[in-house]
Amino acid sequence: MYAVPEPLADETLSSWMWRVNSTAHIPIMSYMRFSSLEGEIIERDKIGLRGERFADRDLLTENGFIETFKKEFNISQPWLNKRFPEFSQPTIPTQFRRAFCSQCFIESFQKIGIPVSKVQWCYLTKPLCEFHGTPLHDSSIFFIDHDDYTIQAFVSYWDDHQFKEDCDLIRGAGAMRNSLALKAQQQLDKLTKRASKSGHSFGVQMFVLTLMRSMMIPAFHHGYPKIAFAHWGGSDPYAGLGIHGDFYNEIYRSTCLARLYALYFSAIILGWITSEQAFKTLREGYFSPWNTHMIWSILDDRPGILRLLFSELKLYETPCLNLTHMNIPKLTRIIYDV
Ligand SMILES: [Zn+2]
Repeated sequence: MYAVPEPLADETLSSWMWRVNSTAHIPIMSYMRFSSLEGEIIERDKIGLRGERFADRDLLTENGFIETFKKEFNISQPWLNKRFPEFSQPTIPTQFRRAFCSQCFIESFQKIGIPVSKVQWCYLTKPLCEFHGTPLHDSSIFFIDHDDYTIQAFVSYWDDHQFKEDCDLIRGAGAMRNSLALKAQQQLDKLTKRASKSGHSFGVQMFVLTLMRSMMIPAFHHGYPKIAFAHWGGSDPYAGLGIHGDFYNEIYRSTCLARLYALYFSAIILGWITSEQAFKTLREGYFSPWNTHMIWSILDDRPGILRLLFSELKLYETPCLNLTHMNIPKLTRIIYDV
């Protein structure tokens, strides 16, 4: 019997399937399957932003090729279930998925001769590679357009020198904030693991994701490096779907760098990053808010957002993470009962 290659640690289903596919005598999947015009991507972006959901090839239950694979390679369902469990955290929708770590790509390429994609890159609250501790890049290639996405993303990074340079530049700039954001990401990881024992990990993730959503509103954009808004998913740098639409949706198509900054600001109002630590980073961007008071007063000027934020946060309160853990100043206009 032909033995299919084992997935590498944290490898995504679609990445592994393409590897297996390339070992088949007659490949099941073809890289020609998706060859949509760029216009279609924009169209899909618009549909996606309005709540349409697209099948996720990284999930066993949604991958259209899985049955053919099982037959062709004699793979059992329990074998697959064990290696490719459901996502454990809120994910970037497939139509916007494109994050990658160039070092991880290179290492897997050196190890087995083909780059692989990782599950952690799909997670909204993980803008940095947990293995290398560096910010993820946004590929110029979209996951949804290619069955061989991993190969395409890897090649596009290496082939286009300007793109590679830009990616490296983004990663190199803002080193202090990147490392504080990494600490915040690690703290969230630890908290999520602890919370999973009492069944509260989803609440913890959503609580932080909600804070990140509110840190992405235009009132905070002056605190972000400009490049965080370049290559925003889709045709429009910021869709302007109204307060609710933007609040819920923009994080999905945002760049990794924007999510990194949203996490950084969230960690400041959570008290995970102290004002002393944040103050020291001002030379990386003078206008960024660096303490809880500054952030809350910006929110305080926007009652619509503030109301939305509190009503959402209350939905996700758990004993592990809730409003009482936060130092919310009195100036806040909205009255909420903690
Ligand atoms: Zn990495």
